[in-house]
Amino acid sequence: MDFLRPAGWEEALAAKAEHPTAVPIAGGTDVMVEINFDHRRPEYLMDLNRIGELREWAVGDEHVRLGASVPYTQIMEHLRTELPGLALASHTVGSPQIRNRGSVGGNLGAASPAGDAHPALLSAGAEVEVESVRGVRRIPVEEFYTGVKRNALAPDELIKAVHIKKASGPQQFSKVGTRNAMVIAVCAFGIALHPDSRTVKTGIGSAAPTPLRARVAEDFLNAALEEGGFWDNGKVITPSIAKQFADLVSGACNPIDDVRGTAKYRRHAVGIMARRTLGWTWEQYRSAGTTLEGAA
Ligand SMILES: Cc1cc2nc3c(=O)[nH]c(=O)nc-3n(C[C@H](O)[C@H](O)[C@H](O)COP(=O)(O)OP(=O)(O)OC[C@H]3O[C@@H](n4cnc5c(N)ncnc54)[C@H](O)[C@@H]3O)c2cc1C
Repeated sequence: MDFLRPAGWEEALAAKAEHPTAVPIAGGTDVMVEINFDHRRPEYLMDLNRIGELREWAVGDEHVRLGASVPYTQIMEHLRTELPGLALASHTVGSPQIRNRGSVGGNLGAASPAGDAHPALLSAGAEVEVESVRGVRRIPVEEFYTGVKRNALAPDELIKAVHIKKASGPQQFSKVGTRNAMVIAVCAFGIALHPDSRTVKTGIGSAAPTPLRARVAEDFLNAALEEGGFWDNGKVITPSIAKQFADLVSGACNPIDDVRGTAKYRRHAVGIMARRTLGWTWEQYRSAGTTLEGAA
């Protein structure tokens, strides 16, 4: 196995163009497991750790541009206000050691349906910036996941950054696992209220071949909130609306039975998480007094 160590981004793109089978390594918390267990024996390993810009982030007016290799710990420490859903999801990843090394770029590269960043990215609204010697592409995150552990990257492309919409309202992330830490999600759910556009977005993890949004549930909820004037009057969401939303989120799942849980359990648990997180975020929205003026 040859080890490539590009000193900068352009060099990395050139190396990837020359060796499209080269496997990039950022934190290595997925790649090294695969190599150690002999699940993967790449011809070339390409270390991205000398490329400082991949570990930088920038907070703009509407979006955060998060370098692909920014570790979860930094997101938890510095981006809690702008990206509350992703910060909550970051808290649940592995252990402190894994959070110090693991990155959102690596989560996207691995594209596991159980990756914790995905529900948060889907619900916040995000685009993945990818680049090759041929040019730059911005891929909406919902189009990035193409199958189980498959993504939209071409063989010569690398992930440079993720552009994530800054929170304009409360966000939540919820994960079911067999214990509190060091656990891959049995299933997970992310929700983000967007009072600026009067919409709610969702993200489901580990309950379908790819992470996905529950679009029918979102459409139902958005229409119900609009019709009832909820964004303006800040009323409590009725149990029947919450239940229908949860049922529709459940219905969006397409899970499998595996060692971590059954399909039936996953569908059920995702529905419960949807109802609870909707309640939490809506309560936060009401109590923050972001009704009327905040939604204007
Ligand atoms: C003990 C343990 C516990 C874990 N717990 C969790 C958990 O709770 N939740 C969770 O979601 N994950 C968990 N993981 C998995 C892993 O930590 C995450 O997926 C993490 O986000 C991977 O980031 P990384 O930087 O280490 O990626 P790496 O291992 O370096 O790379 C992962 C994949 O992405 C590709 N890649 C990396 N950077 C780029 C780039 N810039 N462009 C293109 N491709 C790229 C790599 O080639 C590889 O295919 C755990 C892993 C371990 C070992």
